[in-house]
Amino acid sequence: MIPIPNSNVQFATATQMGKSDIDRLNRLYKCFRDFDEPELIEGDIAVESEAEKNADPCTAGRCLWEKSTDGMVYVPYSIKNDSYSPREKAIIERGLESFSALSCIRFTPYRDGDKHWISIQSNTGCYSFVGRRGPGQKLSLGRRGCLYMKAIQHELLHSLGYHHEQARSDRDDHIQIIWENVIENKKANFGKKNTNNLDTSYDYNSIMQYVK
Ligand SMILES: [Zn+2]
Repeated sequence: MIPIPNSNVQFATATQMGKSDIDRLNRLYKCFRDFDEPELIEGDIAVESEAEKNADPCTAGRCLWEKSTDGMVYVPYSIKNDSYSPREKAIIERGLESFSALSCIRFTPYRDGDKHWISIQSNTGCYSFVGRRGPGQKLSLGRRGCLYMKAIQHELLHSLGYHHEQARSDRDDHIQIIWENVIENKKANFGKKNTNNLDTSYDYNSIMQYVK
């Protein structure tokens, strides 16, 4: 249950979510597919769910947000009032809203009775847990350094179940980590996870990828 920190790193060059980020999100939450229709991989092998293909311990478990009967995935959130000015709050809301046009994810204001929700607040830096974790799980968007579209989308993608692109199990085929250049207490940010992002190809422009 360690949040993924992003302080002091630069994000990929894209200014916001790109095609593959959106495509993966929609695959993971089956946004545009009939929920009951099994997907075929390698032409003819049906799999029960994306989680089986994506052996990531998070998404294979229970960390995905639930899909509603209307096909939408409602993710409740709260924004700590004392954290932000109205202008800053509006920037965050634009980031939350940006998912609606691209996917079946709908970030909705917290209501009494919601069991799980994201509590957006300004702590030190930008960080989030991976996937759904519990009531009021923290997602930090620091006032200094995190209030722009791709940083907001990046953290929200973590909260929806995504790891960093460079944490993929096949990352060594695509990138090289120069360990001697990684600050000692940041080394944990460069571990590998048992996921290949739903069998999609490596995307250097993903907003989940750190820059060189
Ligand atoms: Zn991150």
